[in-house]
Amino acid sequence: MIKAILTIDDIPQNNTRAIVDYLVSKSIKAVLFAIGDALDRNPENALYAISKGFVIGNHTYTHPMLSKMSYEEAVEEVEKCEKAIENVYAKAGVQRPVKLFRFPYLDSRKDLNQYLLDHGFKKVDDSDIINDWYISSGWKEEDHVSVSFDCEEYLLRPGNDKTFQSILDSIDDAFGKDKRDQTHIILTHSHDETEEMESEYYRKIVERVEYNGAVFIDPTFIVPGA
Ligand SMILES: [Zn+2]
Repeated sequence: MIKAILTIDDIPQNNTRAIVDYLVSKSIKAVLFAIGDALDRNPENALYAISKGFVIGNHTYTHPMLSKMSYEEAVEEVEKCEKAIENVYAKAGVQRPVKLFRFPYLDSRKDLNQYLLDHGFKKVDDSDIINDWYISSGWKEEDHVSVSFDCEEYLLRPGNDKTFQSILDSIDDAFGKDKRDQTHIILTHSHDETEEMESEYYRKIVERVEYNGAVFIDPTFIVPGA
C-alpha cells in the first residue's frame, strides 16, 4: 500500500483557509510551510490553521534561492521566519509541537542542514520512502522536509502549456502504477493564482491520489541518524 503525507508550501494566502477546511473535512493532517514575510503581514489564515491542529513549518522569510546567498544571509532567512512562526503560535496560544524546515525550490545546502540539526529541527519521517529521486538526492541523510512527489501544479500559469490533466496523469503514474509498499511526501502549494487556473485544485489532487488507492497518513517526525 502507498501511504501519502501531504505538505503544502507558501502559506498564508487567501485560499489557505479553504484548503484547511477541506483537509479538516477529510481528517488529513497536512504540514503547512509558511513564508515569514507573508505570516507577519497576514497571520489570520495561519492562526486558523493552527487552531485546527495543523503544524506550521519554516519556509524562510522571503522565499529566496538559499544557495545563492552567503551562509549568514541564509541563516537570517531561517531565523526571521522562526520569529514570525513563534509569534503566530504565541498569538494562537498553542505550544509549537515541532520545528520543521523546507528549502524554497528544494534548493538545499549542506551547511544550513547542519544548522537545522544544531537548532533542534526535525523532519517528516521518510524511512519508508523508496522513490529514486529522493534517494539519489541524498535527502534521507539530511534534516529538512523534502519531497518524493511534486504535483507541479504551480506550473499552471497563463501562457504555460502545463495542463491540469497532465498533473492528474503524473499522479496516476506515481500512485497507480508503482504499487510497491512505500511512503510518499507530496508537495503542493497554497497559491491563489493556481486557484484561478483550476478551482479547488488541492481537492482534485487529494481525490486523485486516493482514487489510485493511496491512503493519507498523519506525519510523524524524526531526526536523521537518531
Ligand atoms: Zn515555496
